[in-house]
Amino acid sequence: MQNFQPDEVVFERDSEGSPIFRNLRRALPQVPFRLVDDIAAANGRVNEARDYFGSAKKKLFLAKHKGEFLKKCPGSEGQVCCNYFVINFASNCPMDCSYCYLQEYLADNPALKVFSNVDDLIDEADATIKKHRGMFFRIGTGEITDSLALEPYTGMVREILPYFAEQPNVLLELKTKSDCIDSLLELDPKGRVVVGWSMNPQRVIDDDEQNTASLSARLNAARLVQDAGYRLGFHFDPMVEYPGWERDYHSMIEQIFATIDWRKLSWVSLGVLRDTPGLKRTMRERFPQTRLLTGEQVLCPDGKLRYYQPLRVAMYRQMVGWIRRVAPTVKVYLCMESREVWEQVFGYVPSCEKDLGNQLGNLGF
Ligand code: SF4
Repeated sequence: MQNFQPDEVVFERDSEGSPIFRNLRRALPQVPFRLVDDIAAANGRVNEARDYFGSAKKKLFLAKHKGEFLKKCPGSEGQVCCNYFVINFASNCPMDCSYCYLQEYLADNPALKVFSNVDDLIDEADATIKKHRGMFFRIGTGEITDSLALEPYTGMVREILPYFAEQPNVLLELKTKSDCIDSLLELDPKGRVVVGWSMNPQRVIDDDEQNTASLSARLNAARLVQDAGYRLGFHFDPMVEYPGWERDYHSMIEQIFATIDWRKLSWVSLGVLRDTPGLKRTMRERFPQTRLLTGEQVLCPDGKLRYYQPLRVAMYRQMVGWIRRVAPTVKVYLCMESREVWEQVFGYVPSCEKDLGNQLGNLGF
């Protein structure tokens, strides 16, 4: 992926003692650092720009996070949930995908922020995880940021991973479209860390995933972390339908499964392109050329637009067929899909969210 060069780093005084501050100073020696009393006030200047969401990606803010770090994934109303928790150690992302839901989710607060209070993050997670030792936690870090895109600069994962790798009832997932894995290769995941790559054919990457790593760079990084003891996940999400999509997705699957050891793959998820009327408006302004605006979609009960159901089912069946041919026993699940679609694709529906969460978390501990 492209090197990240923010115009400046803006930080609050109480973040100066944090390891993240030191890492940023070391990694970005040529970038100006500006001390402010309150990043919320400094942040307003970003909003004056015409493409304020795009401009927000050029300035990095460092501050303490004042709310909770560990939350249950909100999921999507009426869709089958996979019992997932999220830790937000940053907000927004230096890459720029045309379909990124953060354009709507963070529309009022798009600043690219990293949180400096790593100790608070670990203390809070520790209290919850130890209190519920009988419960299995799948914890993701890529809900409102990419888990690894800023890692060469912040070193955040290097700071938190050793704690999570020690917890017997935790599986930590780092989700990314980058190839920033150097710090992972220096750590021991103890079998408790999954690196999940979002994968799309190079054509979709070229058209709609600006500044992300190429397909071959993601795949190469996946092979390296697998060799270093990490578990792997792949998210074919968002799947995009266009003339010739079958050829591109099929060949991508063959390439991926010929490169990694699928027997050690933790899971594969599938999800088609989804957006909302509001997100589409933003896409039209920021990415007027994207082909994603031209396909037919229907409004689903959860307020999201998706391809109409028979097309989704056909796409999922094709993908599952191609995957099963090369990796017969790998766990495949659907992300944010209805019970009807599950039933038509797999012939069953997980009985409850814990059922699906346990299936995915059951990794032989
Ligand atoms: S990599 Fe993920 S978080 Fe970053 S812009 Fe793309 S979709 Fe959004």
